[in-house]
Amino acid sequence: MNFTYVALPTRVVFGAGSIRSLAPEVERLGARRVLVISTAGRAQMVESLTAALSGRVAGHFDRAVMHTPLELVEAAREQARAVSADCCVAVGGGSTIGFGKAIALSSALPVVAVPTTYSGSEMTTIWGVSDGGTKKTGRDPKVLPRAVIYDPELTLGLPPAVSAASGMNAIAHCAEALYAHDGNPIVSLMAEEGIRALASALPKVVAQPGDLEGRTAALYGSWLAGTTIATTSVALHHKLCHVLGGFGLPHAETHSIVLPHAMRYNREAAPQAMARIGNALGGAEAATGLYDLEAKLGIPMRLADIGMKPADLERAARMAVEAPYPNPRKVEYEPVLGLLRDAYEGRRPS
Ligand code: NAD
Repeated sequence: MNFTYVALPTRVVFGAGSIRSLAPEVERLGARRVLVISTAGRAQMVESLTAALSGRVAGHFDRAVMHTPLELVEAAREQARAVSADCCVAVGGGSTIGFGKAIALSSALPVVAVPTTYSGSEMTTIWGVSDGGTKKTGRDPKVLPRAVIYDPELTLGLPPAVSAASGMNAIAHCAEALYAHDGNPIVSLMAEEGIRALASALPKVVAQPGDLEGRTAALYGSWLAGTTIATTSVALHHKLCHVLGGFGLPHAETHSIVLPHAMRYNREAAPQAMARIGNALGGAEAATGLYDLEAKLGIPMRLADIGMKPADLERAARMAVEAPYPNPRKVEYEPVLGLLRDAYEGRRPS
């Protein structure tokens, strides 16, 4: 029972209708010139949500895209400077929040995050910026949002397939937190509860995307999931997903496909974590339980279906082995290649 526990100082406002707290949260920070951040597709909706900030909106950067490419990050930073922003309000998924973090990284501007997917990025100090096909990531306390508003009503329109994959991305955070080399009992409690909440909510969310109860439970699980990776290290599963993300594969779907196979890889090396994952899934074995949950959600189950080229499997395995993250089971080329082949074919873990 020797461990180190770190608590990060984010203020969280949770619940249906909590977007009404946006103006008071911005006021608490003393901000007067807010740069709003969104994707282009969600710009109009975000403008209506941030109308409550009235005179405090100094600008709107509405060009957020996945993987925070450097040239767009520079454009967002320039806009923040040009309008003399003293705060960023990022409304959207992990991609949008990533832009708020990238601005904070170079300016230390406070960020208020309003997440509308289950990525969990809003709870972490992890930033990422991509340039020329490679993504640089790091941890910096400056990028941690000062306040996070979780309003499940904003997630009612998230398409079922995006919701399911994003939710599995959140479960992946919890699963790896349970065997992190720097884990601790508090984070494990949150991780197990996060898997429980998400695993029971996601089938409801897919069947009835407009059901507020299911959406609330899924968002609660994603908050816990973000909290778990905020202070513990990720392992082989996240390493593989980072490598595959560099090949252009979609973030959340890659996580959901690889997860059961990564759990199979680590099964014998992390029995306690596997037992807790299985328990949170309602009494299943971890790897097969996650695979069966995904099958129920109707999302892609094969890397072959989301753009993976068979010729890249060996390269991906080499990259994962060359610079491995700490992992319960030794990260070795042949077994990792086997894992990737199983994920490529979408085989049920044995
Ligand atoms: P995303 O932000 O790209 O969103 C996916 C799609 O859903 C987008 O088209 C978006 O416009 C749309 N969308 C978002 N919310 C919606 C809503 N409520 N209704 C309808 N449509 C909506 O995807 P994501 O999976 O949330 O984030 C992925 C990115 O986040 C990746 O770049 C990943 O690296 C990063 N990430 C970072 C961390 C971290 O700690 N730094 C953690 C997880 C993910």
